[in-house]
Amino acid sequence: MPGSMVGVLGGGQLGAMFTGAARRMGYRVAVWDPDSDAPAHRIADQSFSTSFADHDTRERFVDSVQALTLEWENIPVELCQWLEQRRPLRPSSAVLRILQDRLTQKQFLSSCSIPVPDFAEVQSVHQLHHAIKRLGLPLICKTARSGYDGKGQWLIRQSSEVAQFEQILSRPSSGVRWIAEQVVTFVRELSVLVVRSGNGETRVYPVAENRHEHGILRDSVVPASISPSDAEAACELSVRAVAELHGVGIFCIEIFQAQDGRLLINEIAPRPHNSGHYTLDACTVSQFEQQVRVTCGLPLGEVRLLSPAVMVNLLGDEVTVVLSGEGSRETFSTQGASVHLYGKRVIRPGRKMGHVTFTAPEREIAVASAQQFLSRVQNPPSAVPSPS
Ligand code: ATP
Ligand code: MG
Repeated sequence: MPGSMVGVLGGGQLGAMFTGAARRMGYRVAVWDPDSDAPAHRIADQSFSTSFADHDTRERFVDSVQALTLEWENIPVELCQWLEQRRPLRPSSAVLRILQDRLTQKQFLSSCSIPVPDFAEVQSVHQLHHAIKRLGLPLICKTARSGYDGKGQWLIRQSSEVAQFEQILSRPSSGVRWIAEQVVTFVRELSVLVVRSGNGETRVYPVAENRHEHGILRDSVVPASISPSDAEAACELSVRAVAELHGVGIFCIEIFQAQDGRLLINEIAPRPHNSGHYTLDACTVSQFEQQVRVTCGLPLGEVRLLSPAVMVNLLGDEVTVVLSGEGSRETFSTQGASVHLYGKRVIRPGRKMGHVTFTAPEREIAVASAQQFLSRVQNPPSAVPSPS
């Protein structure tokens, strides 16, 4: 119940937004993230910044909380198993075990007859050749574990590029498992947020349409520009996937709408998702409030879209445009703009530093505001060469 302490594993921007939602609802929050600079530490009631392997911390962490959740799927499964024997953890370690490995995840979905891009396991040159024979080129190879924002991915476009990847596979130190996937020629990328409680009660947010640049989410538009029947099919597919997992928590299902109309699941995240940030400003209940509710066993919230919305990520030094005098004034004074900055101290290329959500009575108005903003952050005035 509100007043008690809830724990979150991972303290990046997702953990910070969870913490904000939980505190607003009257909870106290304990954050465990080995990075003492992680954004959620600054607003936590209690902070733990030792390694996830530290046994003393896990005792103190679990003693301080009544319920647990996470903001990152790569938390060690053994730690989650230990924790969930003592306090409810949502999502469970069983779900993490399936989802934190791209191969296991795709094998699981296929075994449930849920459509995914054709894939193969690749750990040796022999398996690579076999995969190319079966799936053809181009192929996208991803490390089975970890990797985010397109990191740990290798695109083999044509046969002349195969040798380079063979070298990576042959490194003596390698031993890395890869998943090779057929490159889907998609019309658009979609994502669906599904919240599912312990008794199977389910809520589904409207479908978002996502654009990626260099493997990183650039922006999300809601509602997606798809037919009502496609939207219904995307939601049905997403609900089915979460039910097959017996998932309890909030899940984001990333989907490719292929050229031939098929909907294929790219991946499932067992946590709030960047493409769901629009829910903070455009829905009755945000994805983070849902995470609090489902973690604490409260009734799930309504998922009604109050306004069309476009969410634009601020990547790397794009954030400086919003931090500078003129750019900041322009952004904050844009009709319908909500600015979210994550307070990360170090700017790195492609790092998610914040986002801005544009809401408007009409989808097209929100899209136009977002486009204007994007061209401003991508081509800041100082980057334009002077005529002289
Ligand atoms: P994130 O953590 O940001 O969701 P990620 O690193 O987990 O990303 P993916 O979602 O697998 O990686 O891939 C990132 C992007 O690369 C996808 O959103 C898509 O644009 C592209 N991509 C990945 N797999 C495929 C594929 N099989 N066919 C076509 N495009 C793909
Ligand atoms: Mg992804």
